[in-house]
Amino acid sequence: MKIGFIGLGNMGAPMAENLARNGLDVLGFDTDNSIKLPEITMMPSIPKLLTEVDIIFTMLPSGLVVKEIVNEFINNFNPKSTLIDCSTIDVKTTKEVCQTLGNKKINMLDAPVSGGVQGAKSGSLTFMVGGSRDDFDKLRFLFEYMGSRSVYCGKNGSGQTAKICNNMILGVTMIATCEAFALADKLELDREAMFDVVSTSSGYSWSMNSYCPAPGVGPKAPSDNNYTPGFSSDLMLKDLTLSQNASSESKASTPMGDLAMKLYKDFVENKNGSGLDFSAIIKTFEV
Ligand code: NAD
Repeated sequence: MKIGFIGLGNMGAPMAENLARNGLDVLGFDTDNSIKLPEITMMPSIPKLLTEVDIIFTMLPSGLVVKEIVNEFINNFNPKSTLIDCSTIDVKTTKEVCQTLGNKKINMLDAPVSGGVQGAKSGSLTFMVGGSRDDFDKLRFLFEYMGSRSVYCGKNGSGQTAKICNNMILGVTMIATCEAFALADKLELDREAMFDVVSTSSGYSWSMNSYCPAPGVGPKAPSDNNYTPGFSSDLMLKDLTLSQNASSESKASTPMGDLAMKLYKDFVENKNGSGLDFSAIIKTFEV
């Protein structure tokens, strides 16, 4: 089985390398032609890559880029090939791309990930997968080469839906955790005591227990490393914008998601949050 991998950035490069380390023949393409990976055969163009492979992974910045590539090169895909898009993109674009490919009998799985760059490097990502159950069953071994878990979520778009719902909860709980530290500080509660109580009480969450935004408290996290990401505030803003757009389109009610998006937008655009880990938003509450 020959694999193509388009988009070899922070996430795509280690993911493609993990496929190659498991004995697969991997061909790669990225518009940044300074990218060189010893285990990947870099191709000069997308059409040249597409004609040679059976499975194509994409790990790209946005839905627009995924859509442009599919629309431009639709006639270069091998019949019976499958596109597995691991980028985080909007549900609407995922469905449109799936339709374009389906018209040519090319299958697609949407398979966004959680676990970040560290998870991509260590092969411990979680994949949330939408598409046909048969395709998932046939191809899940590929997810196992790059991750520790893959969850079948349902029809196309379901993987992206699961991803943005998860990250909406993450954004909201991170802000709630930061606010609680701000209140505890004002009331002169020791941060260590605050962690010890909340992490073992009903206020616990991944944001508090595993990724505590207060430095020096709880297990090692980006807060202990000057908020070097981890998962950047910019990417959290991207994901909260995707969840709010999906919320408006589907007429869901997500007021906390909306507020979290606005707070991250202000942090990234006006409060020097860009480039910092998303837990650094605690700084905006330390007044
Ligand atoms: P990145 O910017 O490091 O990588 C994207 C790569 O795509 C770049 O190398 C870029 O040159 C390439 N690219 C852009 N346009 C292209 C085109 N037309 N053809 C070929 N290559 C092209 O981004 P990343 O951090 O690797 O993120 C990729 C995706 O993964 C995003 O959708 C992001 O939301 C998602 N994601 C990222 C993280 C994370 O922690 N970085 C975590 C989970 C999900």
